[in-house]
Amino acid sequence: MNVLEVECLSKKFENTEVIKDVSFSVKEGETLVILGPSGSGKSTLLRCINNLERVDGGNIIINKKEMIKEYKNNKPIYNNKEILNQINLDTGMVFQDFNLFPHLSVKENITISLINVFKMSKEEADKKANEVLKKMDLKEKENCYPCDLSGGQKQRVSIARVLAINPKIICMDEPTSALDPELVGEVLKTIKALAKEKRTMIIVTHEIKFAEEVADRVIFMDGGIIVEEGKPEEVIKKPKKQRTKEFLKRYINLEDNSMKELDIEENKPREVISFFKEISDIPRESGNEKKIRDYLVKFAKERSLEYYTDNNFNVIIRKPASSGYENEEILGFQSHTDMICEKIESSMHDFSKDPIKLYQDGDFILANGTTLGADNGIGVAYMLAILDSDKIKGPELECIFTTQEETTMIGAKEIDGKQIKCKKIISLDNGKQGKMVISSANCLEWFGEIEIDKTNLPDDENFVKYELVYSNFLGGHSGGNIGDIKRGNPIKLGIEVISKIDEMYIESLEGGSRVNVIPRNFRISFYAKENDYEKMKEKINKQIRFFGEDGKIELNKFYTQIDKANKIENCYENSTKRKFEKIEVFSKFTTRKVINFVNRFVNGPVEYDENNNVILSANMGAVKMLENAVRFEYSLRSNDIILRNLYLENLKEIEKTNNINITWEQELKGIEPNYNSSLVEKCAKIYKEIFNVDIEVKISQGVLEGGFFNDKIKGLEYICIGADTYDVHSPKERVSIKSIGEVWDYIKQIISIK
Ligand code: ADP
Ligand code: MG
Repeated sequence: MNVLEVECLSKKFENTEVIKDVSFSVKEGETLVILGPSGSGKSTLLRCINNLERVDGGNIIINKKEMIKEYKNNKPIYNNKEILNQINLDTGMVFQDFNLFPHLSVKENITISLINVFKMSKEEADKKANEVLKKMDLKEKENCYPCDLSGGQKQRVSIARVLAINPKIICMDEPTSALDPELVGEVLKTIKALAKEKRTMIIVTHEIKFAEEVADRVIFMDGGIIVEEGKPEEVIKKPKKQRTKEFLKRYINLEDNSMKELDIEENKPREVISFFKEISDIPRESGNEKKIRDYLVKFAKERSLEYYTDNNFNVIIRKPASSGYENEEILGFQSHTDMICEKIESSMHDFSKDPIKLYQDGDFILANGTTLGADNGIGVAYMLAILDSDKIKGPELECIFTTQEETTMIGAKEIDGKQIKCKKIISLDNGKQGKMVISSANCLEWFGEIEIDKTNLPDDENFVKYELVYSNFLGGHSGGNIGDIKRGNPIKLGIEVISKIDEMYIESLEGGSRVNVIPRNFRISFYAKENDYEKMKEKINKQIRFFGEDGKIELNKFYTQIDKANKIENCYENSTKRKFEKIEVFSKFTTRKVINFVNRFVNGPVEYDENNNVILSANMGAVKMLENAVRFEYSLRSNDIILRNLYLENLKEIEKTNNINITWEQELKGIEPNYNSSLVEKCAKIYKEIFNVDIEVKISQGVLEGGFFNDKIKGLEYICIGADTYDVHSPKERVSIKSIGEVWDYIKQIISIK
């Protein structure tokens, strides 16, 4: 039996049709998942079904009851109050941001509508609440307030609240997208259990793997229409339409023929790639390098090579000179063993224990929805292949494996200089084959906090809650990718959207991950006037036009369960007024400071040299909510001390005016360019001989670990080379197989040529 029938539904906002003649049905016990890009009309569709939005054409039939009685002059005439009431009670909605009442306990959040809307007695309501809380495994939280719960628990409370009403159809609008990644799992598990019970559900989600598991049927929407509909194994695994493919590509690696598991036997240079595969099996998140250290020590022992290791899990392995090279100067190589761990929203990968499986797409090695760790695992693999080889003839070699390069640089900072014998080091941490980096940036990093002064939202019913969400931006490395303005910074963009609103109050904000990663996401919830929507939307549309290819930007206006209850009460007074006023928000002053600081922070590439190298750049890397403060994590990179000091003057000024309290800072030292280095000269010459082009000698915005070796090794010459990698620090990270081979030839020549 069909519990829901949507017939030729259309819905306009002003004159824009956002749902266009959409028809589908849902059977009893069926789980339907709706996928689609931002703005495709998914939320509007759910809101129409939940009678939170008036339709303009077609009909919605729930449990055999028609929402619209007839059309007069092309205008829908809704059915009578009694029928609409029944329809309203047959549908329940779980919202992305839970919509719990902050001043009510968990239990009261559930009983309030049972008592007020369903006219249950308090005892009956309590009994019902106990039942659903038990089911959701939340019984012991019944007297807690929402602020004491994790996001996952909050969402389970809001699911419990809907279950208490026991509607015929449960709609969920992105139920996990407001959750921290580690909390998504528990909520998905709960929803899966409901699907198993054969509850009728319509779920909008971007969790593609989950969709595949839970859905009986999938609808893909785009531009207000249903583009494709069918079983998950069809729509998700083998989409027919180009639009569906394009969309899914952002979340999963489609089963197209271009991508397959990497075959070690088929690719050259096998000696390097097979070591890369071996170390990819070892989890090596920055700060978690013990396992890879143990592997390296074992590697050295098995080959009877001299090694050194320390408390920071650094390892140095030495290989004696080949005959005929005894009088040559010792040559050092260096790579870091740790990696950045980033993944796409739907990835279940656990970086603390899962191996990274390698895939091949044409010339690229890549991972499935996670960073690959070619930064700097390829360098590690080269060093292992060098140490392992008995064919490469050369001087005594010293291979230095450092740790936590991506975070604290503690490995390079604290390694004992006396253990390093060489005076020439080739770092293999460069991601561009045709380039040799000879100078690295001085990098300053800060955590700056604004104390949160809280207030109650003013008692003005025109305030509505908004949520502005940026996700899936490209991100990337704040040193290497900062010159690419198309990547955008979601924190800056989000604050830009709200900066021109006269009266608003931030409730919470969060975005980015770390100081040296360009943020990929940002979420801010705030209260502003209903009529501010258009102004914000206009700005957002401009941003979408510029960044829309990869990034997703959403502005959600809020509708609470009580709004719906009000509607049932008033039956088409069309009110979305808030009934409860005690909502805690940032004070006006705190809100302003947050906005001002981000707005005035000069972000991205700031200055270039005559060869168009970025020589000064800044990154607003993350914003986090602490108990009593908002923390910004930001950094500045420079290869020019004068420009840096000018920037700092401005930064100190905006920190002062916005009462930023610096709670942590560090300086990562740079390397001065040394154009007369014999190492630079030799390596440039060999490159030209092999490839018949000049290697580009570069000044980098990256911080190189070599900066820390300067103080330890007198007269150090340091350069940085490597194979072509792309989109490092992001789930699109990949490395070119051809380039791995060419750089391998290059390295072998550098070692062997005297
Ligand atoms: P999705 O949930 O798929 O991201 P929505 O249903 O939220 O999409 O939005 C569909 C379109 O309708 C978007 O272009 C959005 O800007 C527009 N829209 C949504 N709500 C309103 C509103 N209250 N007023 C005007 N336009 C709106
Ligand atoms: Mg939506």
